[in-house]
Amino acid sequence: MSLKDHLLAQIALNGPMSVAEFMTECLLNPKFGYYSTHDPLGAQGDFITAPEISQMFGEVIGLSLAQSWSDQGKPDKFILAELGPGRGTLMADILRATGRVPGFHAAAEIVLFEASPALRDRQAQTLSNHNPRWIDSLTDLPEAPLFLVANEFFDALPIRQFLREGEGWRERLIGAEGESLTFGLGPNTSQVALADRITDTEDGDLVELCPTAIPILTVTAGRIASHGGAALIIDYGDWHSLGDTFQALRSHERVDPLQAPGHADLTAHVDFEPLALAAHAAGCAHTKLTPQGVFLERLGITARAQALATPLGGSELETLIAAHRRLTHPEEMGNLFKVLGLYPSYAAPPPGLEP
Ligand code: SAH
Repeated sequence: MSLKDHLLAQIALNGPMSVAEFMTECLLNPKFGYYSTHDPLGAQGDFITAPEISQMFGEVIGLSLAQSWSDQGKPDKFILAELGPGRGTLMADILRATGRVPGFHAAAEIVLFEASPALRDRQAQTLSNHNPRWIDSLTDLPEAPLFLVANEFFDALPIRQFLREGEGWRERLIGAEGESLTFGLGPNTSQVALADRITDTEDGDLVELCPTAIPILTVTAGRIASHGGAALIIDYGDWHSLGDTFQALRSHERVDPLQAPGHADLTAHVDFEPLALAAHAAGCAHTKLTPQGVFLERLGITARAQALATPLGGSELETLIAAHRRLTHPEEMGNLFKVLGLYPSYAAPPPGLEP
């Protein structure tokens, strides 16, 4: 039995499924899911993320979080959390860079939110010196100041897609034709969650919703609003999505998302406005959405690159220069990726970001 057989059987039983149900099965099915079964990151994997490109990324982010902690009076007990920590590389870089910030490590309890057992094992190895704790639900976050980072986490959350037809919406669904999975459309319905999209879309436009992102923002922003802290949400996407951004990546190449379920990474661009609105509703302030390149430059990534470059020569130096360019240049990740910061309305915004 493969994941595809399992999906075909489910469709035969229950009818076509939403893109969100398909994504959840493909990414997190306990037996066949893409993240459940293996570690997809790195040059040998299917895709590479900013912390896997260079240690500089996590280092400057660590210093930003430590500055926010210091600006807020250095609470002597706080939660240092990450959503979807992958191999644990970003958290390891954050912890190395903050090792010399007096009091920071002693006050931090490290909490990780990770669905994949394979990646939890990997994180446990990477962070074995730091005693992290994993939570299954974000409501298990202790009532304490929360300093949180999420890099390429929200793009992995399941989305639903809707095609505008008149004043209503038809959901894009995945069904079967013989032994193949195919896209189709559900009946025309009105969607409360899309009420505000009637004004900025036309007949035939496709919009996306990420329902699971909202409760995640409600809990984390709620902790920050009531106990202090900050969040840095980094992902590719924009303020407001329009069009089909559902994509599959395998061995660094784009592939048909229906082709090999469970064997390719599935993502969608992050729609930041609903995240900011949910944070605001939870009583938290948010920053302007800022391009990753601008954010990293403001945090001093170029000075950090120069310091790392000093002892290097030859191919090591070239790799470092290429990594700096890849993270910051507008034609590489610098503009495609954006950063949204959350902070308590009485405090300063996280360094590198503006209100
Ligand atoms: N932040 C890491 C990894 C990004 S890949 C990096 O930048 O390298 C996405 C991560 O989110 C993986 O660790 C994946 O297992 C995790 N993830 C995906 N969906 C999740 C969910 N619904 N709940 C918790 N973790 C999830």
